[in-house]
Amino acid sequence: MTLIPHYIDGVEGAEAAKTLPVYNPATGETHRRVAVATAEETERAIAAAKAAMPAWRATSLIKRADVFFRLRQILADRTPELAAIVTSEHGKVLSDAAGEVSRGIENVEFAAGLTHLLKGERAEQVARGVDVHSVKQPVGVVACITPFNFPVMVPLWMVASAIACGNTVVLKPSEKDPSAAIWLAKAFTDAGLPDGVLNVINGDKTAVDALLDSPDVKAVSFVGSTPIAKSIYKRASANGKRVQALGGAKNHMVVMPDADIDAAAAAAVSAAYGSAGERCMAISVLVAVGDVAEPLIASISEKVQNLRIGDGTDAASEMGPLITREHRDRVESYVTGAEAEGATVLIDGTQRIAAGQRIESDGFFTGISLIDHVKPGMKLYEDEIFGPVLGIVRVGSYAEAVELINAHQFGNGTAIFTRDGGTARQFEFDIEVGMVGVNVPIPVPVGAFSFGGWKTSLFGDSHIYGPESIHFYTRSKVVTTRWPDHTPAQVDLGFPSNH
Ligand code: NAD
Repeated sequence: MTLIPHYIDGVEGAEAAKTLPVYNPATGETHRRVAVATAEETERAIAAAKAAMPAWRATSLIKRADVFFRLRQILADRTPELAAIVTSEHGKVLSDAAGEVSRGIENVEFAAGLTHLLKGERAEQVARGVDVHSVKQPVGVVACITPFNFPVMVPLWMVASAIACGNTVVLKPSEKDPSAAIWLAKAFTDAGLPDGVLNVINGDKTAVDALLDSPDVKAVSFVGSTPIAKSIYKRASANGKRVQALGGAKNHMVVMPDADIDAAAAAAVSAAYGSAGERCMAISVLVAVGDVAEPLIASISEKVQNLRIGDGTDAASEMGPLITREHRDRVESYVTGAEAEGATVLIDGTQRIAAGQRIESDGFFTGISLIDHVKPGMKLYEDEIFGPVLGIVRVGSYAEAVELINAHQFGNGTAIFTRDGGTARQFEFDIEVGMVGVNVPIPVPVGAFSFGGWKTSLFGDSHIYGPESIHFYTRSKVVTTRWPDHTPAQVDLGFPSNH
């Protein structure tokens, strides 16, 4: 069976005393195993990154940018190959996997503009004959720890900007679908990145803890679930590192009475059930304002009737399986327990029926679920389920919708569907959520903006990728300069004043 190794200093390999299974979620079979790094192997990766740092930060900006231009081409040319790797371990359908690659390419394109992004500032004559300028210098070795649900895009959110800024990286991808990270690291090498600048270490908490505790790691970027994000933030910041730790989500989509119901229903179905709901920006709560619930439910029910669920490699499939059997069972437990919590199950995904047929497979499939009369306080409402389960909360007014969302612990993404510009503008002003869509259900910003949630969806003060990532992955150095101007030198023990 194929063993997925580490990639340290340009070499694939693993001591691999311990390994973990990597499943094909569509069949339920273990089709690969992944090496689990020891603390010592992780330290070797950190040492390789540290050793590569002086030469990489001294590499000219143009040569660095060349790597990203070449990488962009490799990713564009070989998207189907990479998408197939993602589907084989994650389960999402091939078109969705290709979409993830294309969003990752945006981050590579952004990084290719590094000459512009790394420009500092200069002020002339701040005092007589004195100038000040600032430069942005790399922070050092960066640890990137990523979740299973976007095995290409999320690593590229971090790695592209970190490397562009002159840092070197140790990436620890999810142990559930690790092959894409190794593929990416080799693609960077093919694009001309020197050995040691990007290292991939596979494994679990042991590797992560070694990264968080190493004095040679200067910054940590994490994306994953909220409890882990919080613990990573605490441990890494206690060790004096800068940290950005993005967590989970419960994204609400508000539908106002004046919305285009058909468009809102189509958007809700796509955003709730796409990628089997395993997106941090998936819509999991529909907030129906006024009397909009009935027509909305009718339209959604009609749209999901023929939804095809199956193996992601089958071009006919629109939704694939969940990542593991345990996760599927956990997702289904929320649906099974919904009636006892007081909600009404309109479509029961635990029956595993799609387009009128029972899904016959040993894979980790569930059907789609639609649940009405969901209320705050229910586990169904409070927890991140991370599956194809859409809950409907009925509220009387716009104000109630805002109050509901602002009271929720998560604040990753949200959307409002309305034809009224004034309502949309007020929503943008009122809502305590990091990313907002107006008639757009999954408002993931393009690569030239940054991405991040509020509240328990992000620990730290920097959003990820885009301009905020340049700030996160660099340190400012401010230089004050005076050149000899042939005036006689004077001793002055006073504090220098520029007046
Ligand atoms: P996870 O938190 O289980 O794992 C994320 C990473 O942390 C993995 O690399 C994993 O190996 C590592 N990890 C797991 N347990 C650990 C521990 N105890 N100590 C140290 N490291 C540990 O998340 P997941 O299940 O892989 O991904 C799904 C979650 O990620 C969801 O909650 C989803 O909302 C979130 N997510 C958030 C965003 C965002 O931008 N906010 C984006 C994608 C995914």
